[in-house]
Amino acid sequence: MMYYTIMPDGTVKQLNPFTGTEVWAVAGRRGRPVVNEAPSAAKPLAVHTPEDYCSFCATRYFETPPEKSRLIRKGDRWEKLDNLPADRYFETAAEFRRTGNMFEIVTLDYWRKNYAFKPGSARQRWKEEYLANPAGLKHITDIIHYKLKNEGKTDEQIEKMPLADKFAIADAFFGGAHEMIIAKRHFREGSQSESDLFASGDLTEEEHFWYFKLTIDAIQDIISTNRYVRYISVFQNWLRPAGASFDHLHKQLVALDEWGASIQNQINMVREDPNVFNQLGPNFAAHHNLIFAENDHAIAYAGIGHRYPTIEIYSRSHAGRPQEHTDEEILGMSNLVRAVHAAMGERISCNEEWYYTPFDAVYKMPWHVLIKWRVNVPAGFEGGTGIFINPMTPIELRDRMVPQLYHLRDERKISWLRIAEECRVDPNPLKYYLK
Ligand SMILES: [Zn+2]
Repeated sequence: MMYYTIMPDGTVKQLNPFTGTEVWAVAGRRGRPVVNEAPSAAKPLAVHTPEDYCSFCATRYFETPPEKSRLIRKGDRWEKLDNLPADRYFETAAEFRRTGNMFEIVTLDYWRKNYAFKPGSARQRWKEEYLANPAGLKHITDIIHYKLKNEGKTDEQIEKMPLADKFAIADAFFGGAHEMIIAKRHFREGSQSESDLFASGDLTEEEHFWYFKLTIDAIQDIISTNRYVRYISVFQNWLRPAGASFDHLHKQLVALDEWGASIQNQINMVREDPNVFNQLGPNFAAHHNLIFAENDHAIAYAGIGHRYPTIEIYSRSHAGRPQEHTDEEILGMSNLVRAVHAAMGERISCNEEWYYTPFDAVYKMPWHVLIKWRVNVPAGFEGGTGIFINPMTPIELRDRMVPQLYHLRDERKISWLRIAEECRVDPNPLKYYLK
């Protein structure tokens, strides 16, 4: 199988070994700007302190569903507060918050109607206590109103709706399994322009680690409260071209009752060949000099066969699921993912997507994170041929990252990692296949 062919004219034909996606990077089209540089006329920012730019901002805690958890800092320590009553939201400053998503993709009703799922007693109790608190009751009433308005109901229709029906909607805020992890800041400290958004790469390594930890904690909690969940899609849409509704840093988790065709296929591949993720992952990338960074726990390279320029970051752990990683391993993954974001900068719209061994799989695949740059829009050619045109070759993508990573390391903005030629590229660097 020819996964990666560089034609004499420079066209790079690629076939994604795991998805079968056919992609060309065409020579001559590559001169087009692919990166959204600072718009020369970026609007000056009308600075608001504290921030109140969107519903995820720190003064607007009541514009999201109730908080399942928040992380706060006490000196050097991080502390997690679960199910905070509404009247205590403003007693502490949340570094990260975990809440339900007001507009679920896979709804609580889906689980109720298809599986007779009922939120457990702890969630029920939380809901009752939350509503027994006047601030909580007001919060829930307000966001139900907002949600119904958004869905096209008039004030009059909302007025007439029985209270029981309204509060049934609120069940999803407490017992649903489409969640968000929201970061604290909207713009960078001291930002002057509307393009100075606060991105993943602006978090410190410590903050980024806790961002990952809270996300992994949510994975663990969702599977322990809904036994029909077989996989949880974890992703971060950064900026509108990547599908984000707010330019405020956040991740999402969507629980599913199936693995999806792509994961199913990858598990089949790993059953056929337990080492396939090394062979067609880092080993292959190493042979083609696409690996550009690694630390003791993770490895990063330019991926092949993606519709968008895509960086792949793989965990080297024996464990196949994020929640089975040690803190040290999570930190290693987190550091490398953050380094990639920092090297890209905040202006490239991207999707960060997590993949890992499904909860009910007996064949292990490694935890890995794909960062897809949403800099091109697939068009008619792609629809007609099934061949996608990617505006950057994997080598170009690698070569954009390397100088930025050296620069960040020199400035001590990222912790030590091996870059480019320093990478050891040992064969079979991923250890997921070992018992
Ligand atoms: Zn905001």
